[in-house]
Amino acid sequence: MRERMLVAGYRGRFAPSPTGPLHFGSLVAAVGSYLDARSQGGEWLVRIEDVDAPRCQPGMGDTILRSLDAFGFTWDREVLWQSRRGEAYAAALEQLKQRGLAYACACSRKEIADSATRPAVDGGLAYPGTCRHGLAPGRSARAWRLRVPDERIATVDRIQGELGQHLAEDVGDFVLLRADGLFAYQLAVTVDDQFQQISDIVRGADLLDSTPRQLWLQHCLGAPTPAYAHLPVVANAAGEKLSKQTRAAAIDPAQAAPQLLAALRFLGQPVPEELARASLAEVWTWALAHWDSARIPRQRAVAI
Ligand code: GLU
Repeated sequence: MRERMLVAGYRGRFAPSPTGPLHFGSLVAAVGSYLDARSQGGEWLVRIEDVDAPRCQPGMGDTILRSLDAFGFTWDREVLWQSRRGEAYAAALEQLKQRGLAYACACSRKEIADSATRPAVDGGLAYPGTCRHGLAPGRSARAWRLRVPDERIATVDRIQGELGQHLAEDVGDFVLLRADGLFAYQLAVTVDDQFQQISDIVRGADLLDSTPRQLWLQHCLGAPTPAYAHLPVVANAAGEKLSKQTRAAAIDPAQAAPQLLAALRFLGQPVPEELARASLAEVWTWALAHWDSARIPRQRAVAI
């Protein structure tokens, strides 16, 4: 893809997980991150987040790239595939181990369920710290966890305002390397955002609750903290997030112009009536000239 001149050092990214085709919710995240980058003369990178291989569908990464292309997105640099980044994740984990920040954990899911007392932000249970001071005799490592501090970790999101968590209470020491041998999303995303020198993360508000863990990992790895802008997620009339689980329909390149218009409207942009019959190229021209991130609804979810 074309290399472009950077005006303000802005580098954004879109990081879909290839667990299914792009749906309207993922189109909104792609459009929001793309226009935020391009309207500031910035770069926009695409990363296929296939670190959790068992959840990914074979060939889906390429299908996603083809739909982005059909919708008229252009990206800078090579696409980064998390499935090829194992060495970088292993090196980051090693660094955290050497510094005593990561520790081995022998707990099974059931043991955690039996001993945890606090609910975690993701609906699970906050890890009670059983293995924090070393494995009990006779037990062996299943996973590796990161120590979290007993303090609030926060940043100011450009759209959602202050976002933070008391990690020790809301999450507990969290997993970096899973019992099944796979690196956790939190580690992969943080290592990759640092590697790709991402300055601005624009993504769906479903990732708000993961952000403090990523802020803490950035701190532990000596990585800079990017600016964050969490877009409202698309909800159905019942208030449920649109996802593969709620059977969101795949976006259709044959309907690219009207679907792009719908994504722009969802993001609060005042799309003129006369664009209703415009070509895809005309819609992009309007969007690039008129993008106004201040109009994005300051909500975690918006129903359509
Ligand atoms: N791969 C994540 C998802 O599709 C997005 C991660 C991110 O943008 O940080 O939900």
